[in-house]
Amino acid sequence: MRIGILGGGQLARMLALAGYPLGLEFTILEPAADACAGPLATHLQSAYDDPEALEWLTRHTGCITYEFENVPAEALARLQQDVPVHPSPAALATARDRLLEKRLFQDLGIETAVFAPVSSKRELLDAVERIGLPAVLKSRTLGYDGKGQVVLQPGDDPLEAWVAIGRVPAILEGLVAFEREVSVIGVRGRGGELRFYPLVENHHQQGILRLSLNLHEDPLQSLAEGYCRRLLNHFGYVGVLAVEFFQVEDRLLANEMAPRVHNSGHWTIEGAVVSQFENHLRAVAGMPLGDTSALGHAAMLNLIGELPDLDTLLAVPGLHLHLYGKSSRPGRKLGHITLLERDENALREKLAQVNSLLSNSL
Ligand code: AMP
Repeated sequence: MRIGILGGGQLARMLALAGYPLGLEFTILEPAADACAGPLATHLQSAYDDPEALEWLTRHTGCITYEFENVPAEALARLQQDVPVHPSPAALATARDRLLEKRLFQDLGIETAVFAPVSSKRELLDAVERIGLPAVLKSRTLGYDGKGQVVLQPGDDPLEAWVAIGRVPAILEGLVAFEREVSVIGVRGRGGELRFYPLVENHHQQGILRLSLNLHEDPLQSLAEGYCRRLLNHFGYVGVLAVEFFQVEDRLLANEMAPRVHNSGHWTIEGAVVSQFENHLRAVAGMPLGDTSALGHAAMLNLIGELPDLDTLLAVPGLHLHLYGKSSRPGRKLGHITLLERDENALREKLAQVNSLLSNSL
């Protein structure tokens, strides 16, 4: 089967890498000439809403998936007339709008930080009054990796913060004093079969994911799975869904969901029996799902901005390097490293060794 992927970045590249052993083939629709999935797929180099490219995809692919959230809804609607699109465009429409997303969490009984919509000066002042400060003002759409958001401290001028994010429709959220950030990745097959990966602890630097560690028999695993299950079943979802949470004691507050393979699941390539990429493809292509169990204690480190000396890195025993074929730029994810060890202490030691080799450039 040929799978069409909207977007041609590293997620599409890793999907293709996982899909060839299953006999799948890939076409990406991606406007950039130097797409990092380009070498692994046929490349329709057009805008996401180009009618000819969409027509081609409906004729030559068995199903369509996407690797990022900002695909035009009209393009998905066009494709859906003739070919299955997974995950459901309804999940995408919800995930790309922080207000719809938070309201859905609330409707499904999934805890969140307190929040209020902001689309006028009046609403902004009401929201500050109700939620209090400190709080975070976030644009409803087009925010990622900490972009489009401002933290408001007591005494700050809310209007100034709103101007800073472009006076766009936004939400104000209470600032959560969390202990940890964790995420769960679930996958639902076409027939409703469900699997979940172990919870992952995430560490960010300047709003960008830097490090993910898989957790073992974490007491919050079943709570996270339950929340993820509600979302998967709500949408009749097919494919991988990631949900990010703030942990406060034994509670999980959902921050956001991503209807796609996710950076906090990259460790599964070497660290789980079947990776998130393969399971996403199995789901969208209508195959049975694979085992999501971990093979050990895994750490995933993003390589951001600039690459370290690769020979030194590769000399570390057991280190797995993934490069995305991108040029250096501040804040850009250029690749990642996975470490996998039988016991936790060995992983900590290996992680310290690798961290000392990274310049921490972002
Ligand atoms: P987001 O774009 O919503 O994923 O936010 C990026 C990062 O900002 C999160 O991973 C958190 O570290 C931090 N953050 C976002 N929202 C909040 C919040 N309500 N309270 C505390 N930290 C937050």
